[in-house]
Amino acid sequence: MKCYRCGGVMVYEKFFGVSEDFFGWRCIFCSEIVDSVIAENRLEQRKR
Ligand SMILES: [Zn+2]
Repeated sequence: MKCYRCGGVMVYEKFFGVSEDFFGWRCIFCSEIVDSVIAENRLEQRKR
């Protein structure tokens, strides 16, 4: 798994969300977080 922003190494980590914990990929260089839930949230925000 490579970061789509900087091409760095991404690690699979557990995150603590607002309502529930989830797993996702985090870039160790730019701290970009990639997760299906986050992607859905971003799409939701664009609609508003
Ligand atoms: Zn990155």
